[in-house]
Amino acid sequence: MTAREHRPVAAIRDLAHVDGLPPEEARARSAVLREFEFRITPYYAGLVDWSDPEDPLRLIVMPEVEELSGDQHFDPSDEASNTRVRGLQHKYPPTALLLLTDVCAAYCRFCFRKRFTLGTDPVHHVRPEGDLDSAERETTLDITEGLRYLHAHPEIDNVLLTGGDPLMLSPSRLAAVLTDVRTVPHIGVIRIGSKVPAFDPARITPALTRILALASRVDARTHVMCHFTHSRELTPEALAATTRLQDAGIVLTNQTPLLRGVNDDPDELALLQRRLAANGIAPYYLFLCRPTRGNERFALPLTEALGIVTAARARLNGPAKRFRVVASHATGKIEILGRTRDEILLRYHEARDPADQDRLLTWPVGRPLTWLDEVVAAN
Ligand code: SF4
Repeated sequence: MTAREHRPVAAIRDLAHVDGLPPEEARARSAVLREFEFRITPYYAGLVDWSDPEDPLRLIVMPEVEELSGDQHFDPSDEASNTRVRGLQHKYPPTALLLLTDVCAAYCRFCFRKRFTLGTDPVHHVRPEGDLDSAERETTLDITEGLRYLHAHPEIDNVLLTGGDPLMLSPSRLAAVLTDVRTVPHIGVIRIGSKVPAFDPARITPALTRILALASRVDARTHVMCHFTHSRELTPEALAATTRLQDAGIVLTNQTPLLRGVNDDPDELALLQRRLAANGIAPYYLFLCRPTRGNERFALPLTEALGIVTAARARLNGPAKRFRVVASHATGKIEILGRTRDEILLRYHEARDPADQDRLLTWPVGRPLTWLDEVVAAN
């Protein structure tokens, strides 16, 4: 089937329907699915080695019972306090987020918005039932209020469409949103955060690409911020999809978390960034895993994470190491710059409090730490 002929195929939402997964493994995880949803595309299921418990792609999507035992909260970056009107977050002066949908092509087990994938079991259920567009939801397709906010805030010069995955919207819905956002005269860049190129590249049809291109002008581009996490996701199908976007004038970048067992090997991390750069997808952010309930198994201590990144960077050319290593803390986006013999150096890349902008922070090398609350408190 060509991309032009692509029709959405049903997502796999039951582990019992995954070809190659032993039935006893599916049964062992049924309790997890009552709390957190499972979802995967047939395409991505075909990339996974279901017989290998350590397969990095399997770790990305496979529910594990550890997800039920974590004691972290659901909103590690305190997004609730950044929400100005329904479906719009505004944390840094020039940037606003529109959260359009809570659906993704597949659900990453490490997602920091794992609260969007909470299951529908009545015992664990925390999302509102019934009306998909009910007021309690953090996402909305009705951007009337968000648009009003954008028009009233001339300091905002770029908007990130996010969720969930905006490329899961129908082309007509997406076109309507893009057209509306382009009515705001001070918006230059529109960014779309999406893992669809990795999870379901055939969804990037020529028709969808044309819609994105219509919202992209020479002086006000549309960017797709891809989410490739492992080099095996850069398949011929995925790269054909990203090439369609590039040919239409869409700017492509990539961001991904650094994840234990998935891309925490310096050779693999370097291969991912090298192949991204070679394919014209600019490495942008490498995130520390945000401590979210259910994803603790993916987190790496700060000193270990820095060591992995340093080793990977030593293998990379300039274009491949354009990424910044950052942690999206409640107080701002904090970049991990490097280390001296005794200290790790960090800096506010984007600060919630303007007084913190570009402020340097330090942390003793080797002192155990997986998240930055203590760094912020100590500085
Ligand atoms: S695609 Fe993005 S938003 Fe969706 S589950 Fe994965 S990390 Fe979360």
